[in-house]
Amino acid sequence: MTAPTERTHSEKLDLLAQVAIRVGLGLRPGQELVMTASLDSLPLARRITEQAYRAGASLVTTLFTDDESALLRYLYAPDESFDHAASWLYEGMGAAFRSGAARLAIAGGNPSLLSQQDPAKVSRANRAVSKAYRPALELITRHEINWTIVAGATPAWAAAMFPEDAPEVALEKLWEAIFFTSRINTPDPVAAWRQHDAGLQSRAAILNEKRYSALRYKGPGTDFTLGLADDHLWMGGGTVAGNGQYCIPNMPTEEVFTTPHKDRADGIVTASKPLSHQGTLIDGIQVRFEAGRIVEARATQGQEVLQRLIDTDEGARRLGEVALVPHSSPIAQSGLLFLNTLFDENAASHIALGQAYTSCLKDGDKLTPAELAAKGANDSLIHVDWMIGSGSLDIDGITQAGTAEPLMRQGEWV
Ligand code: ZN
Ligand code: ZN
Repeated sequence: MTAPTERTHSEKLDLLAQVAIRVGLGLRPGQELVMTASLDSLPLARRITEQAYRAGASLVTTLFTDDESALLRYLYAPDESFDHAASWLYEGMGAAFRSGAARLAIAGGNPSLLSQQDPAKVSRANRAVSKAYRPALELITRHEINWTIVAGATPAWAAAMFPEDAPEVALEKLWEAIFFTSRINTPDPVAAWRQHDAGLQSRAAILNEKRYSALRYKGPGTDFTLGLADDHLWMGGGTVAGNGQYCIPNMPTEEVFTTPHKDRADGIVTASKPLSHQGTLIDGIQVRFEAGRIVEARATQGQEVLQRLIDTDEGARRLGEVALVPHSSPIAQSGLLFLNTLFDENAASHIALGQAYTSCLKDGDKLTPAELAAKGANDSLIHVDWMIGSGSLDIDGITQAGTAEPLMRQGEWV
């Protein structure tokens, strides 16, 4: 293998594709793959397709999307269009997953694509997709199949992140940021990923032994206690999917995470970074929780979008995920705001509004919705992560006996 500093762009792209298929997806020889990608990610999609077939994929089917075409709907489609989704497509994806296909998504769309569009239409369209996709998505959130998300730089994303730079320079900077944070600039990226994965696994194991009943956060604008769900399990890095394949669902990933108790969040939380949601930047978020529920929500920018988001359904006001990320993660160290959750959620400790991951509960996949709710797992059409961690956040773990143990100080593991 070429030394990291001597690698060409083309070699790095190949390594990213290799890592995605071999480590991220854990594709099994003979397995089908369903991939989604933007047309702007065609070069990476082709590399991944090549690596998938080299790993023995029986068939790779890629559904390409196009930002500009998505925008035309907002400009010219009749109003009733926005309550409609391509159910047949999501049913087909669900059928593919149930018949054994793996799922890979290439992320990297224009983060501000819909920022000028009517927020009501954006939220109706998303709701329609969430409903139609839910049966298929559940196979993914329950980790019944192996899946992963990787990122590919696109001109529009690069321009949003580096508005001062010429288009080619911006694109090059974004690719370098993706390679750096995805550990492609290491001597042996596959080995680096295996080692990083082992580190996340052991961190999760320590927290699972501790069995904290709650976490207490203190930092600028944040004074917050969050109860953890009964029988919660911390997870980090890879997981054995229900179909027996080992996969690392997000690349990059830096978090260990679990399911909070939907009725046990109290206090004030201030976001440490802006949230890029469906093309709108929501900045200066501060919310107050009472018994798990958001009772006050403010944002200095994007307040209307935030309000619509938490009004999606009852579960949208409650938390479905809590994740811990050290401030020294490569993404935090890059100092970049990626305007993309895959990266930004791995830059800092975060919490997510909405749907809980049932795989973060002991035997969670076997529980009925009523049993899940009784343990504190939240239910919602949305799952939106927002960053609350920083170099000045302290987190304590509260033991079952009620004593506080320092877990993170100034954003780093104790
Ligand atoms: Zn997360
Ligand atoms: Zn999340």
